[in-house]
Amino acid sequence: MERNELLVTYGEDVKPMVRELLERARLAEDIPQGAKIGIKPNLVVARPCTEGATTSPEIAAALVEYLQEHGHRDLLILEGAWVGASTSRAFSVCGYEALSKRYGVPLFDTKQDSFTQRSSGGMAMQLSDKTLALDYLINLPVLKGHCQTKVTGALKNLKGCISDAEKRRFHTLGLHQPIAHLNTLIKTDFILVDSLCGDLDFEEGGNPVRMNRVLCGKDPVLVDAYIASAMGYDPYEIGYIKLAEQLSVGSADIEGATVSTIRKDSTKARGSSSRKVGQLAKAVDARDACSACYANLIHALARLEGEGKLRAFYKNKICIGQGFKGVEKDGVGVGNCAAGLSQNISGCPPDARRILAFLKDQA
Ligand code: SF4
Repeated sequence: MERNELLVTYGEDVKPMVRELLERARLAEDIPQGAKIGIKPNLVVARPCTEGATTSPEIAAALVEYLQEHGHRDLLILEGAWVGASTSRAFSVCGYEALSKRYGVPLFDTKQDSFTQRSSGGMAMQLSDKTLALDYLINLPVLKGHCQTKVTGALKNLKGCISDAEKRRFHTLGLHQPIAHLNTLIKTDFILVDSLCGDLDFEEGGNPVRMNRVLCGKDPVLVDAYIASAMGYDPYEIGYIKLAEQLSVGSADIEGATVSTIRKDSTKARGSSSRKVGQLAKAVDARDACSACYANLIHALARLEGEGKLRAFYKNKICIGQGFKGVEKDGVGVGNCAAGLSQNISGCPPDARRILAFLKDQA
């Protein structure tokens, strides 16, 4: 696949979804035979992926199966959990220990690694030697929110490839600058994003939003621009995305990219266990809404709430879902199914940024 291209698919049957993405991306052909391949999930904490923070082991398993079937056998899953968390516990709780045993792929805790200092733009940082020794790096981030940087995805996921002392220093430096520079020093070759179930606004999970989506690309800046957009942000609002583009890591031009959807979502949205998501959902009248459509609306509502404009919809709820097909009435409708509402944003599904702009006009 080309660097200005993203492939997106939806559903709940994860393994076939991932396989189809990888085949369409022709990943195996992009990797030199005999290459030492690193697989970098996001296991920031020891919490199962259903809580919205960590990469689904099913996605990683589908990737490993695909690579092994194509003759790529020198694989290593590497990660260093957050400073206060144990990576080995995260490997176990998140399902990677079982995955490692099943496929014979070793796990490596980068906290235990030796580190080499490299510099970018006058910014020195300690990088994991195991990461530096890889021939090909496959990044498996989660599409989710972040309390400091608003969103997190491919670029920030490389924080697992530095020492704990460096992670602390990154935070004191405000994250954006060092993350952008880190990505000039460690090159991501391929990105497979877990957008099945990511947190609304916190990197450690707890408020999961089910999106039933997986996507892939080769440019981490473009992937993160997609992630920001899917959460209702302009990619250039996110400091490290803008800086990474300025440092020529990639392009944040999501409007100019080729984004192809392989399979549309046909799964039905389910209620969330999260109190925060439940609060946002009070502004919604959902009837048989697809998961992706509903998730885009929830992300838009989170941004709207941040601007203090959500209350307007508690009384006149936003209509969404296939249950509104053919319904004609006054009100606000999201998506093609709710085209009969007097105020409607089209799309199947409409993206979060468009929904947000539309709702701001209605509030
Ligand atoms: S517009 Fe209707 S069919 Fe399309 S994604 Fe939304 S709910 Fe599903």
